[in-house]
Amino acid sequence: MTQPTAHAADTHDVIRVEGARENNLRDITVHLPKRRLTVFTGVSGSGKSSLVFDTIAAESQRMINETYPAFVQGFMATLARPDVDSLAGLTTAIIVDQERMGANLRSTVGTATDANALLRVLFSRLGDPHVGSPQAYSFNVPSVTGAGAVTIATGANKGKKEKRTFSITGGMCPRCEGTASVSDFDLTAIYDESKSLSEGALMVPGYSMDGWYGRIFSGYGFDMDKPLAKYTAKEMDDLLYKEPTKIKVEGINLTYEGVIPRIQKSMLSKDRDAMQAHIRAFVDRAVVFATCPECGGTRLARHALDSRIAGKNIADCCSMQITDLAAWVGELDEPSVAPLLRNLRHLLESFVEIGLGYLSLDRPAGTLSGGEAQRTKMIRHLGSSLSDVTYVFDEPSTGLHPHDIDRMNELLVRLRDKGNTVLVVEHKPEIIRIADHVVDLGPGAGSDGGEVCFEGTVEGLAESGTVTGRHLHDRARLKDTVRAPAGVHEIRGASTHNLQDVDVDVPLGVLVAVTGVAGSGKSSLIHGSLTGEGVVVIDQGAIKGSRRSNPATYTGLLDPIRKAFAKANGVKPALFSANSEGACPTCKGAGVMYTELGFMETVSSPCEVCDAKGFQAEVLDHHLGGKDISEVMGMSVAQALEFFSGGEAKLPAATKILARLADVGLGYVKIGQPLTTLSGGERQRLKLAAQMGDKGEVYVLDEPTTGLHLADVENLLGLLDRLVDSGKSVVVIEHHQAVMAHADWIIDLGPGAGHDGGRIVFEGTPADLVATGGTLTGEHLARYVQ
Ligand code: ADP
Ligand code: ADP
Ligand code: ZN
Ligand code: ZN
Repeated sequence: MTQPTAHAADTHDVIRVEGARENNLRDITVHLPKRRLTVFTGVSGSGKSSLVFDTIAAESQRMINETYPAFVQGFMATLARPDVDSLAGLTTAIIVDQERMGANLRSTVGTATDANALLRVLFSRLGDPHVGSPQAYSFNVPSVTGAGAVTIATGANKGKKEKRTFSITGGMCPRCEGTASVSDFDLTAIYDESKSLSEGALMVPGYSMDGWYGRIFSGYGFDMDKPLAKYTAKEMDDLLYKEPTKIKVEGINLTYEGVIPRIQKSMLSKDRDAMQAHIRAFVDRAVVFATCPECGGTRLARHALDSRIAGKNIADCCSMQITDLAAWVGELDEPSVAPLLRNLRHLLESFVEIGLGYLSLDRPAGTLSGGEAQRTKMIRHLGSSLSDVTYVFDEPSTGLHPHDIDRMNELLVRLRDKGNTVLVVEHKPEIIRIADHVVDLGPGAGSDGGEVCFEGTVEGLAESGTVTGRHLHDRARLKDTVRAPAGVHEIRGASTHNLQDVDVDVPLGVLVAVTGVAGSGKSSLIHGSLTGEGVVVIDQGAIKGSRRSNPATYTGLLDPIRKAFAKANGVKPALFSANSEGACPTCKGAGVMYTELGFMETVSSPCEVCDAKGFQAEVLDHHLGGKDISEVMGMSVAQALEFFSGGEAKLPAATKILARLADVGLGYVKIGQPLTTLSGGERQRLKLAAQMGDKGEVYVLDEPTTGLHLADVENLLGLLDRLVDSGKSVVVIEHHQAVMAHADWIIDLGPGAGHDGGRIVFEGTPADLVATGGTLTGEHLARYVQ
């Protein structure tokens, strides 16, 4: 008998990645067992995302795109082949990430999963009175009637045309068109009646009368030179409200539509955060939103609301907490729809299992946190019958209490056991523990990382001596003494969302950890009640700014650097910023060119004129300490810190800011890296670094350990300590037990989630929490500390 060789596993059993070099990866090779759970570990910036997302998932996506017809491919972003020698044994990759499920106002937890679809079928079968088909319960389907010609397919009249009328009964509320809210316009922000159209009476973005709009308005017949104050009531009504009307201008067929319906269609159909800044500013000025009076915010038409099962209509079902809905569905006993009920129960139970039972199906998807959005996306896949898919997760523990993590683990394992390959980027030992296979990248970050330090089992990792291995079994100590508060911030009668009339004193001048299972009310309490002057909230949300924004511009670091370059070369500072004089005129300093495709994701490609540097060639002739500005912008924070610390380029004003960036664990990030490439955790730490020097009194952070390696958590704690010792108050919402153990004071919410939470179940020191027990957080912390 022949012995199997070490690499007997053929491509049926492994995904082989050979010679990977994306970003900082150093020509690495890994063999990932298929249908197993692999966890990728390593300090932030070591290259985990570069391997998992930028190489493996990217190549899978590219291969899928190549299967589309050339015509369709022409409209898709051309995905560059990742920098890798070979990638074999890949299966379709599905990324389950923390990107928020934003832009579409019509998307709710129920529509983003199959839950609403199943409920609609249920009501179409059991609802009383009986309305009709499932779409009669869908707030995304309008009711329409119309007529059209059909060609008869069979019978004596085959081939003849016949006029038929049709009618579709949808469930969309006709008043708000399924958006739940109606808008009222402040007309004074829309037009200035003392002016004529050609003088710019319309103050709506994009309504310039020089271009096509001007021709359409005059083509429709408006007097362009008469002040609007002199318009007749009919003229004003046409200007503001006219429904779409065909007109001919210079021989071209065009459509005229009143200003208000245009605004509704082109601007208000978008989520506020997805709007361009000037449009958002206009909308904030001109539009007031209110709950739709017709449907009461349920988005549904009358007939859909009138139909009930056991006393509840579909809107009642969608507004219930999912745990309650699951119980209600569990009591329905109707043999004619048994399979449907089974599917629905199963789906609702997966919400509960994944720790989302506290949500309601009508919750707008855009209001979910990153972690909640990721778990909602996961629901779709749990019910799927697909197998042999590669699922890729980015820190699935985000937003989860240690108690919730146990359940998340079960789901990851279940996905694997259905025959899928599961790849997880994670830092928490509680999740690393369940891996069949671990790939540990490092040893450091950026150019100090990018190598495979260890590949094998979890036991092997613990003994490997790598940074991750050494920290795997870390246990925190409870502090012997805690800081004494310098005062309190009183919260009284808090009742945002699920909070049950909460009174609590938040101690000031100390490090406070707010804890509790997901959905217990931590964010509602802190973001809803801890506000006011001097409170600085540092979250993971997107940073507003242009595509040229980067850590250097965001933190003000570019200022001293520009001035130093100018002084050393006897020229103006403005030359050295990529958004003014020195910018490459072709890409306007961005270094990349963007092609907007309108209906698809924007495509970007490096600017060929400046070789992706963003600067004009002459600017690069100026040097400081032997480097040009684009070389400096390409340095990591750590490299820049060294560069500006001494010698010819010594620049204390820059090192002060750089040291703060290094302090928050961003040493590996390039100072000129576009902000759009940073993760949520990195953005939060960047904001922290930028605002640390501010006047703030109370700093509020939401899971600041997101994206941080165990080794980096210690640094973060050091940083928070220094903030507190400098006289600030720090309040963190955290699940990381090392942070809880290190806090001076814990406010624990619970006992459960949603309406089972919303109360303070403990307030006191970590030592007291462990000693008293009785709360989920206390139990877990007791097991964690030494
Ligand atoms: P991890 O996922 O382990 O935190 P990453 O793979 O995100 O690490 O980053 C590895 C290195 O590659 C870091 O130095 C990071 O700054 C760099 N990097 C990652 N993405 C980009 C990008 N889009 N542009 C430039 N550098 C990047
Ligand atoms: P935690 O921060 O502890 O995870 P949250 O404060 O986010 O908990 O949620 C507490 C409760 O409030 C949950 O039932 C949640 O569904 C509800 N909730 C939170 N945000 C919103 C929102 N924007 N709209 C409606 N309900 C919300
Ligand atoms: Zn309505
Ligand atoms: Zn350019």
